[in-house]
Amino acid sequence: MASVRLESVVKRFGKVVAVNNVSLEIRDKEFFILLGPSGCGKTTTLRLIAGLEYPDSGRIYIDDRDVTFLEPKDRDIAMVFQNYALYPHMTVFQNIAFPLLLRRKKLGLTKDDIKKRVLEVARLLRIEELLHRKPGQLSGGQQQRVALARALIRRPKVWLMDEPLSNLDALLRLVMRAELKRLQKELGITTIYVTHDQAEALSMADRIAVMNKGRVIQVGTPDEVYLKPKHVFVGTFIGAPPMNVVKCKIEDHDGRLILSCPGFEREFPPGITPKKLPRTKEVVLGIRPEFIEVTDKPEPGTIKGKILVVEPLGSETILNININPEGEETIIKAKLPKLTKKYSAGETIYLKIDWSKVAVFDAETGFALT
Ligand code: ATP
Repeated sequence: MASVRLESVVKRFGKVVAVNNVSLEIRDKEFFILLGPSGCGKTTTLRLIAGLEYPDSGRIYIDDRDVTFLEPKDRDIAMVFQNYALYPHMTVFQNIAFPLLLRRKKLGLTKDDIKKRVLEVARLLRIEELLHRKPGQLSGGQQQRVALARALIRRPKVWLMDEPLSNLDALLRLVMRAELKRLQKELGITTIYVTHDQAEALSMADRIAVMNKGRVIQVGTPDEVYLKPKHVFVGTFIGAPPMNVVKCKIEDHDGRLILSCPGFEREFPPGITPKKLPRTKEVVLGIRPEFIEVTDKPEPGTIKGKILVVEPLGSETILNININPEGEETIIKAKLPKLTKKYSAGETIYLKIDWSKVAVFDAETGFALT
């Protein structure tokens, strides 16, 4: 059993508030990901949980034990950080075995047990052939996998990982994501994982905390943060390409709420009437590129647009469309599964938006109105 709880944690570096009143509850056996742009406070949050930093205020609990000011060694955690410090004079095998050798008696392990564990984890990370080498004889990506192996060989209460796959090539990254997720589920070790890569977060996490400027903006399953972003920041940070945003005004036409948007007007989509109209009467529509279809001919409710750029991506195609050809350029990206027709720049097309999937945000605060 290992849950981790942060209660109103604040960490400042001089004037910078790196972690701003963060409260989180990470459940036992959960694969929990801290996701956000560079500088949002992910690493600092992880370092606070590890005990490499102490908070200015707030408390941190592992399994209801207050660990806020305990040293890392007293927290029963294993960590792997971006800057993987391997012991240069030891072989890869010795580096990986080291955490177990240190505690061999306490853990009741024989040398053969340790060897077996090293081989297992080396196989998982595709580094069996490197076990006799020294870190200086490895590439950056290989060193990173050795560092990861050294953390994974332990069976602590909590694994803490900071971008552990960042130095691997794209293909190996995909393989490792799946392997890591499988191992985590097999062993059931509560894991807190930091990344700025939204695809990595969506593919691996049980739940994701999306952070920005030291704050947690939303916590949810990958589906929740993807389909029901609480803030425009979440919608535009997650997704490839990210959510389209279109700023519109709300106008009251004899009691009917009309959205006046660049290039089109329409009634407020059914089912997404805001609970409270924003103060400024301005909203941002969040439209995911895959919830847009295109047709050659106008149909009721379609929006006219002009193709600016076509981006073929193999299994899908992204169209960059200006939906306001007569006014200020407003570009929307549409993701089409597979083109039956070849589109080219300059063509006029018509967009069919799935309004049931559109998010509406307060233009002033960025928070979802739906
Ligand atoms: P990245 O993805 O780039 O690693 P991050 O989300 O992990 O970013 P943090 O490393 O937690 O962000 O940094 C949060 C903020 O705190 C940043 O503004 C950073 O400059 C600042 N910061 C972090 N560590 C220190 C430090 N030791 N001294 C001063 N400022 C720091």
